[in-house]
Amino acid sequence: MDIKNLVKPNIRSLRAYHAEEIPCRVKLDANESPYGVKALKTVKTNRYPDPEAKALRRLLAKQFKTKPENILHGNGSDELIQCLITTFGGPVLFPTPTFSMYGIISQAQGEESAGIPLDEKFDLDTDNFLKAIKSRNPKLIFLSSPNNPTGNSFSEDRILKIIRQSKGLVIVDEAYQAFSDRKSFVPLLKKYQNLIILKTLSKIGLAGLRVGFMIAYKDVIDEMNKVRLPFNLNSLSQKLAVETLKKSALMRSEIKTIVSERKRLFNEMKKIYGIEPYPSDANFILFRTEKSDKIYKELLKRGILIRNMKGIIEGCLRVTVGTPNENRAFLKAIKSTV
Ligand code: PMP
Repeated sequence: MDIKNLVKPNIRSLRAYHAEEIPCRVKLDANESPYGVKALKTVKTNRYPDPEAKALRRLLAKQFKTKPENILHGNGSDELIQCLITTFGGPVLFPTPTFSMYGIISQAQGEESAGIPLDEKFDLDTDNFLKAIKSRNPKLIFLSSPNNPTGNSFSEDRILKIIRQSKGLVIVDEAYQAFSDRKSFVPLLKKYQNLIILKTLSKIGLAGLRVGFMIAYKDVIDEMNKVRLPFNLNSLSQKLAVETLKKSALMRSEIKTIVSERKRLFNEMKKIYGIEPYPSDANFILFRTEKSDKIYKELLKRGILIRNMKGIIEGCLRVTVGTPNENRAFLKAIKSTV
């Protein structure tokens, strides 16, 4: 029996999200934080988790100066992307290259989607984007700013143009905003009813807990609650997320370290002949080199895992900012490779 014949056509032609598990000494491939949380407090494992994650949403509402009814929790922000597409459907629009899950989930759900190429500075190509909005009338537009994998933030005025022109919902995905000097779009929620801000705790030390959340108008969240699975966020993650967010001073100092390490890494990479790093507002740096495959393999031989962007941006590699020691190991290895 060929199972493939039973699968829906849109799933059959889909390629699964590629999350490599390659053994290594220095792991700089997945945009995680090198800093984590050690405390593990007990939770009642015999009880279902709070389906509404009330304590977490209350705390987030306080931190973002909004109401709990404007916050929706997800098992990672991935799940909220899925929940958005299940609730509202397509057409879905996003720039390319960008975070691959916007396209993968759209296709998995059988929704039409389109990627509009970024301009030569990796900024939004507003002319083409606005044309696509007119011709396709998208229900959902995803803008990751700072953008993964390019690392830059999009120009604020270009994002605003898209929000104003769109009759659908515009999701500004701020997964990497903590590492950027740019202002968050959260205050603009008051002004634009079609704006949604997507956030995650994954990049600031809690990737293993899978905690994402979004801030939006209550009407949007009420509709999404119809399709969200009741116990989507487990008790341990809820509790640990609340405890960690309460001690946010620690997180802030680690974010500062990562930002200063990113600046150092960028300056050092610029000095290396044969590689061209792109400026980044995130916790990773994209860089171009003619020897991308060779460098990727040579680094891995030395136990250092970074991300090969082959098939997404040709001739590019992406390195996550690690601890000062990890970054030194990366720099030493790459200098001896190029
Ligand atoms: N948005 C962007 C732009 C990302 O890069 C990622 C993770 N790579 C996510 C969302 C998903 O993060 P998570 O599901 O861990 O919250």
